[in-house]
Amino acid sequence: MTAAAAGPLAPSALTWPAPRAAYVHVPFCKHKCGYCDFASLAGEDHQADRYLAALEREIADHLLSPQEVDTIFVGGGTPTRLSARQLERLMIVVKRWLILEPGGEWTVEANPGTLDAEKADVLAQAGVNRVSLGAQSFQPAILRVLEREHGGQDVTSALDVVRPRFPRWSMDLIFGAPGSTLDDWRCDLENALALDPAHLSCYGLVYEKGTALHRSLREGRVVPLDEDLERAMQETTIERLAQAGLEMYEISNFARPGHESRHNLAYWANDAYFGFGLGAARYQEGVRSVNTRELAAYLSRIETGRSAAGATETLEPDARARETLMLMLRRTKLGADRADFRRRAGFDLDQLAGDVVKRFVASGLLEDDGRRVRLSPEGVFLADLVLREIV
Ligand code: SF4
Repeated sequence: MTAAAAGPLAPSALTWPAPRAAYVHVPFCKHKCGYCDFASLAGEDHQADRYLAALEREIADHLLSPQEVDTIFVGGGTPTRLSARQLERLMIVVKRWLILEPGGEWTVEANPGTLDAEKADVLAQAGVNRVSLGAQSFQPAILRVLEREHGGQDVTSALDVVRPRFPRWSMDLIFGAPGSTLDDWRCDLENALALDPAHLSCYGLVYEKGTALHRSLREGRVVPLDEDLERAMQETTIERLAQAGLEMYEISNFARPGHESRHNLAYWANDAYFGFGLGAARYQEGVRSVNTRELAAYLSRIETGRSAAGATETLEPDARARETLMLMLRRTKLGADRADFRRRAGFDLDQLAGDVVKRFVASGLLEDDGRRVRLSPEGVFLADLVLREIV
């Protein structure tokens, strides 16, 4: 369908608000986990001070003046791999350039075993009000398969440090590790629930190309779980977490009402965002760009006054609207409200994707109440298929 046939708003009707969300990347890790496809580096801690100087320069060169934002997310890598002194330096840089609105959300990712009281104090005093803890599993055998460098007990110890200092925290878990069973996953969910989280992210393991785990798969050293078992794990997650008061609000994310990640909700609304640091992406005025993932290139480009971004991508209005719809549909509770979609994307939802929506409503994978479209309970399990068709 052409943009004209899809009924876009006049170009003047679409505005490009300044980003209200900012992502800052810290790439250092103790060890590269076998499944990890992020811009993360082990054995490069000696570059941390140089990296922080480059990060500040990148932020200053890009923003030119301090910007007000509603959410900040410092992710990695492992931000808490930095020393307390380095974390303090990072917090000063972030606060200097990104002014968090009153009531804003400032999240920092942490890994068990890397967050002590001294570092947590630095974060809390700077204004960080949410910690996202990468637990992944509580079971030694699964942590070994994932090549995680901590034990289940380290999660509990990290929370002893987090709870008294931060009003909100979240935990990441991974299901579907090779060799794991449904009982293993139930056990991980129960261990997590025993800690009374208000937000959990539960991701199915992905064998990303270029990772050690993907090599093991190719060489036949690990066998992926069969699809039925993975589906049973996902079903168990949704049911058990709902019983515990954690509602699914995105395909992989569960929260008590009011504890959803505001930063991630901005991504799923296809809102603009700033991005700084190694491999970081940004989306401003309809243009997306991603920084290099090579540390040496990142440092030298920034230090010589050049941009660290690779090629930029500007989607045609029609493609951008489809991407917005795809992202909005990831939000299992909100889905895509027709009026909101038109305001954000500049297209009428039915003219843009009415045929595909009707087809998936007929096959029971989407629900449509006339006002909003969203994934059905069955559609959640086949979200990849539905979202691919939308795009
Ligand atoms: S700790 Fe996280 S970012 Fe670092 S290597 Fe492991 S999965 Fe990747």
